[in-house]
Amino acid sequence: MFKIGRNDKCWCGCGKKYKQCHERSDEENLKEYVEKGYPIPDRHLILSPEQIQGIKESAKVSIAIMDALDKFIKEGVSTEAIDRLVYEMTEDAGGICADYKYEDFPKHCCTSINNVVCHGIPSEREILKNGDIVNVDITTILNGYYSDMSRMYMIGQVPDNAKKLVEVTKKCMLSGIDAIKPYRPVSDIGNVINDIADENGYGVVRALCGHGVGLKFHEDPVVNHYRTDRKTMIMVPGMVFTVEPMINEGTWDCKVSSEDGWTVTTADGSLSAQWEHTVLVTESGYEILTL
Ligand SMILES: [Zn+2]
Ligand SMILES: [Zn+2]
Repeated sequence: MFKIGRNDKCWCGCGKKYKQCHERSDEENLKEYVEKGYPIPDRHLILSPEQIQGIKESAKVSIAIMDALDKFIKEGVSTEAIDRLVYEMTEDAGGICADYKYEDFPKHCCTSINNVVCHGIPSEREILKNGDIVNVDITTILNGYYSDMSRMYMIGQVPDNAKKLVEVTKKCMLSGIDAIKPYRPVSDIGNVINDIADENGYGVVRALCGHGVGLKFHEDPVVNHYRTDRKTMIMVPGMVFTVEPMINEGTWDCKVSSEDGWTVTTADGSLSAQWEHTVLVTESGYEILTL
């Protein structure tokens, strides 16, 4: 049922064969879902303790870059300068920026200001000004391991509505993460996030989602941030994925720039915010790897 060979090593890192360790408890935990037709993760989505350690090392680089950006980002700074800092710090740490040349993306990170939902392209011409809110999204590859995270930055005196959007979006991310429990469907995450957005009259972006990450940039499972009663993949210990809700002040609907093919903006021009962490499912709940 669980897609691990009985004679393979158990996913928990004990060194024993699967049949001698977690096989029985996994079967008990997953039985009900399998019968109901929920997708069960493939073996390659269950990472070993060594692989998880590799992702944690990668995450240390991502966190250090974000912490440096916390001090660096202010009024008058160009998004190109942000991109340069991300590139230089990643290089110095022996890492690679996953964004660069990913499907021909031209820069090393994404910088998304105000009504830009995500995938904004850093530019010399784009200067941060008082009152802006900006998301910086980075993915570091270190020794082949990926860590993906983003934060919001508020420039100078930000209007109350923008500040509230940034804070509620962070709450959406953290509450979504807090819904992670092994042997539950991934849709638990989006259901919690959508409730908080609804309470505030905000729209939850549907066109973009969280994703498995770690050995590759984008993997299963698909982590939707909106409410769904579809049968989504069951979370099991050893899975690593992102939770990265994009929350709009207005409608959830978005459009992609026809000029650059990347920049996603809100359909109604309203503000958008996003926070992102890379998270591990554990036997008791979760661990945030980019914290
Ligand atoms: Zn990201
Ligand atoms: Zn991501």
